[in-house]
Amino acid sequence: MDRLDKSQRKAKRNAWRQSEHRKAQAAYPLPDARLETFFGLLEALRSEHGCFHDIRHALAVSGQLGLSEAETDALLDWCNAHGGYCDCEIAANTFMHWHETRART
Ligand SMILES: [Zn+2]
Repeated sequence: MDRLDKSQRKAKRNAWRQSEHRKAQAAYPLPDARLETFFGLLEALRSEHGCFHDIRHALAVSGQLGLSEAETDALLDWCNAHGGYCDCEIAANTFMHWHETRART
């Protein structure tokens, strides 16, 4: 068995992480820039009004962004898939998933 030195291991780990991130990015329901706007507006509403244990803020932001019904469905399915079932969970869990997997600039 080949033993990898530290820098080879690091390179492998980075390559693996990058491919995981690319897979996650391919499943984004909206372009990254729109997700950034979505999370920014959602967090503003959530911090001002709190979470009502529903998705009223997410729906309000979706309306503000002019998303179609299909886009909104895709967005909310993606939120659910990443632990976001209400506004505060979307702002925390789904946001973290996005933040960790989005392309670094
Ligand atoms: Zn909540």
